[in-house]
Amino acid sequence: MQTYPISMTPGPVKVPPEILAVWQTDFGSGDLETEYLELYNRTETNLQAILGTKNKVTIHTGEGMLGLWGALKSCLLPGDRVLSISTGVFGSGIGEMAKTVGAEVRLIELPFNQTLNGLEAVDRAIREFKPKMITVVHCETPSGTLNPIHELGALKHSLGVPLLYVDAVASAGGAPVDADACHIDLCLGGSQKALSVPPSMTFVSVSDAAWEIIQQVNYAGYDAFLPFYTAQKNFYFPYTPYWHGTAALNAGAELLLKEGLQNAYARHEAVAQACRAGIEELGLELFPAPGAVSSPTVTAVNVPQGIPWPELDARLRAGGLVVGGSYGPMAGKVFRLGHMGSQADLNLLEQALGVIRGAVKDIV
Ligand SMILES: *Cc1c(COP(=O)(O)O)cnc(C)c1O
Repeated sequence: MQTYPISMTPGPVKVPPEILAVWQTDFGSGDLETEYLELYNRTETNLQAILGTKNKVTIHTGEGMLGLWGALKSCLLPGDRVLSISTGVFGSGIGEMAKTVGAEVRLIELPFNQTLNGLEAVDRAIREFKPKMITVVHCETPSGTLNPIHELGALKHSLGVPLLYVDAVASAGGAPVDADACHIDLCLGGSQKALSVPPSMTFVSVSDAAWEIIQQVNYAGYDAFLPFYTAQKNFYFPYTPYWHGTAALNAGAELLLKEGLQNAYARHEAVAQACRAGIEELGLELFPAPGAVSSPTVTAVNVPQGIPWPELDARLRAGGLVVGGSYGPMAGKVFRLGHMGSQADLNLLEQALGVIRGAVKDIV
């Protein structure tokens, strides 16, 4: 397979050697070893710090999508009302997913280059529609944006909405999530973004209110959350634990905690700012609209007029740089630099900007 010396894909990010070494360690069987339980508990504690929560954090084998689906299926019954806030591809997608679970979904949709700004429409919709769950995406990776969630959490709390579901897969570890301060009941994270771990694990903080609902719904399936309620107490996991994946996830979490979360957030912010400034200096245009909040973990850039995306992509690859395209309505029109986790690195960014400069010099 082709590899590129300058990797800035917005996930899976480059795995640092110290995490790779842990992942490749030959562990015991995992199944019935008390060391696995100790590792799971330690990982949970570290992830609680990263998500800003005292709630139980469940750790599942599987990618971020497993958590996104599992949380919906574990909490929703046919006919339940879900208010889905969408400012991008994942936001709309989660609304669609909730529909397939049988929920009645009301969508509040903003243009994909904007972020939540003012909550009048959400406030009105909560009062009229009385949802059981609100869903929102913290970092909309395909758009390079970050939705403010503190005020939304306060509104949800004051109006007594039972559940707030937040997709923080692409922000957790790279931007403060503050799950408890934001009254988040289901805060969803994944291994392959700012934690710099291979795409193998998903983790979710689950509030007491959510656990009550999960017990009522009693959903059974590979992605069910219910078995994790008692997994540690009874030392009985729903499937053979993925020891390597959990250990790597823990190593990724410990790396961030050792750096200090505030330092890690400042590093992401500094690289994101330098990225946006560098892109504009090259005469390129950022995708997020003025006034939208840009994500500290990923920058979305409009593909310039005069060069089709496949041609630009080929030029970047020829220069040793691999970035991300985008999805949905942005496909072919937007490309993205992922500066999350190990890739939030000013030196790496300088190299990437150098390749981009060479690739666009005859068109902008
Ligand atoms: C990457 C991502 C996911 C899905 O994670 P996978 O590991 O690809 O399943 C979900 N939501 C957001 C916002 C993401 O960026």
